[in-house]
Amino acid sequence: MMKRIAIPVAALSIVLLLWTLPSRAGGVLSPESAGLRVERLDKGVYAVIGSTAGRTYDNVGMNANFGFIDTPDGVILIDSGASAAGAELLDTLVHRSTGKPVRWVVNTGSQDHRWLGNGYFASKGAEIIALQRTATTQRRVSSQQIQSLYPVLRERLDGTRPVIAPSPVLTDESVIRPGGVTLILSYLADAHFPGDIVVRLPDTGIMFAGDHLYVGRMLGILPESNPVTWLDAFNKLSKLKPKRIVPGHGRICTLRTAQRDTGDYLDFIVGGVQPFAENLAGVEQAVSALSHAPQFSRLEHFDTLHRANISSAYLQMESQ
Ligand SMILES: [Zn+2]
Repeated sequence: MMKRIAIPVAALSIVLLLWTLPSRAGGVLSPESAGLRVERLDKGVYAVIGSTAGRTYDNVGMNANFGFIDTPDGVILIDSGASAAGAELLDTLVHRSTGKPVRWVVNTGSQDHRWLGNGYFASKGAEIIALQRTATTQRRVSSQQIQSLYPVLRERLDGTRPVIAPSPVLTDESVIRPGGVTLILSYLADAHFPGDIVVRLPDTGIMFAGDHLYVGRMLGILPESNPVTWLDAFNKLSKLKPKRIVPGHGRICTLRTAQRDTGDYLDFIVGGVQPFAENLAGVEQAVSALSHAPQFSRLEHFDTLHRANISSAYLQMESQ
């Protein structure tokens, strides 16, 4: 009698254990569960498109876009993800598409998702490539970024090491040929973060624009961002006439879409805030005058970011 009861109880315990374990550990992490998908741009050239939502435990801070290029000698990765766990997801996607290891990582910027996965790839022997300006910002912001990510990513941040390119490129424009593929790295002006760059494949007209560009969602003017020089960087980017652009956030686009969702918005913010900042009119005046902007309300996160962007731009421009 006892034995007949014991078996179902044991079976039930196993079922309960299996059911509760994954939720305690946060579920299985995969590129799909983190919202990442690969889009092929050209032969051997791929974009990894992430969610346009905020950072979450589920997307491991991979709410951004990345890229990779297949070469005969291995893969060039454009930006390494926000953590070791995020880097491993990119590694999985690279392996699925090419079957090759990442040999080079190019950082387009200093926001967490651009570079905190460097340590993961460096430990596998990849070379980390960044301009000096980018590396300088990374060094300054790394501990703050790890601290801010920890409450969101928790144990998924484990093993993340902020590794900075050991021999950064000292010039503002550099042509490199990893695996025989020509890439042009260009610093335009301080944008979302000081030292942001764009990476171009001159043979195809493809540009990886990093955090210079937000498409379909509202950009964020952070304390690190300089809206005036960001607008200047955007205008220089336009003059490079890229044919297809992988923005830092949002869908793959043309220059026209980039202009509409990022260039026009920066124009509106800088042009709109300038007279208030020059006259020291006060942040409240600037926000109340500019918060009504129905031409941008279609952008995701408009309601949460637009007023904060005006305020952040005012405070910076007033002190300039
Ligand atoms: Zn970003």
